[in-house]
Amino acid sequence: MQHPAEILPVDEKGFYGKFGGAYIPEILYANVDNLRKAFNECVDDPSFIAEYEALLRDYVGRPSPLYLARRLSELYGTNVYLKREDLNHTGAHKINNAIASVLLARRMGKTRIIAETGAGQHGVATATVCALLGLECVVYMGATDVARQQPNVQRMKMLGAKVVPVESGNKTLKDATNEAIRDWCCNPRDTFYVIGSTVGPHPYPMMVAYFQSVISREIKSQLSDAIGRDYPDYVIACIGGGSNAAGAFYHFINDSRVRLVAAEAGGHGVDSGETAASIMRGHEGIIHGSRTMVMQTPDGQIVEPYSISAGLDYPGVGPLHAHLADTGRAKVIAVDDDEALQAAYRLTRLEGIIPALESSHALAVLDKMSFRPDDVVVINLSGRGDKDMATYISHMQ
Ligand SMILES: *Cc1c(COP(=O)(O)O)cnc(C)c1O
Repeated sequence: MQHPAEILPVDEKGFYGKFGGAYIPEILYANVDNLRKAFNECVDDPSFIAEYEALLRDYVGRPSPLYLARRLSELYGTNVYLKREDLNHTGAHKINNAIASVLLARRMGKTRIIAETGAGQHGVATATVCALLGLECVVYMGATDVARQQPNVQRMKMLGAKVVPVESGNKTLKDATNEAIRDWCCNPRDTFYVIGSTVGPHPYPMMVAYFQSVISREIKSQLSDAIGRDYPDYVIACIGGGSNAAGAFYHFINDSRVRLVAAEAGGHGVDSGETAASIMRGHEGIIHGSRTMVMQTPDGQIVEPYSISAGLDYPGVGPLHAHLADTGRAKVIAVDDDEALQAAYRLTRLEGIIPALESSHALAVLDKMSFRPDDVVVINLSGRGDKDMATYISHMQ
């Protein structure tokens, strides 16, 4: 298979333009270097790829459908296709990356898996694959998120993972990530850190994008079957760290016929001070090993992010997306809490699909851009809404 460095705008040091790199403590140099080598080997190893693809098919249930949403299309006067990542085992795209990452860990001889999680989706996906492959699993989760995402905490426990509540900072995703990195520094020999998005030091953003690239590979062949051309006019995805968007954009990044649209979480509004729109409201800085757009004060203190959606509540963004936005390749749109909620209720009533709150941010873009009747618009429906029922019910009028 083609190496991701041939497709993504990334250089040898892991820079996407001025973003990316690997800003890590010295104790992790060897780990990150070994990871880079092991990843390069597995991209070229047909047996690794075959095992990964068999699990995607038989265990995750791929390919996920590309569904023409007729009533939604009629409402917006265009052709809206939904890429149904919500139908994957464990309910979101996260499992695509978790499977490949844990297979890679096992190949490297690692016996202990650690992960960070926000809403719990990445924790559940990682715990699931660890159960499947019989590996020890420790998940760091902010104490605030532990309290508000109990069903996912219980799922992880039932799967045999140890969930560690993190009490520092805001007690959310950023703090859980800090703690996972700390653990990794203390246990560099036996431990593999499975990062849940296209963030962290190189090679993680490239590796996770590659492990999610199955999304756009399927979109190409599904569109080809459905309409006789293998590209859409628009691909729209939400971005927290950017992994579902990276997977949906991947095979279209170098195709200028396809317009890429990223929906950031506006929270209460990008100018409200309560937002997670890190591209629009951030400044260049370093977070979790990568140079990117970070929400920070003028003297470099992280500003706590806010979004109704725990999966988008992160003060940074993957370096690929910072670069795609910086160069104008991707259009970035901020979607506020209310707009995402309305988009979720609309999809539910028109199509009988309850989306994850994160995915609802991508759906809301339909209200913020205009499309032509013959446009083909693909929206990546990154996950299902089961975990968000309490929020949806409490905001219903
Ligand atoms: C975690 C999550 C996201 C945000 O993460 P990305 O890495 O930006 O994709 C989006 N949607 C769902 C359903 C998630 O679980």
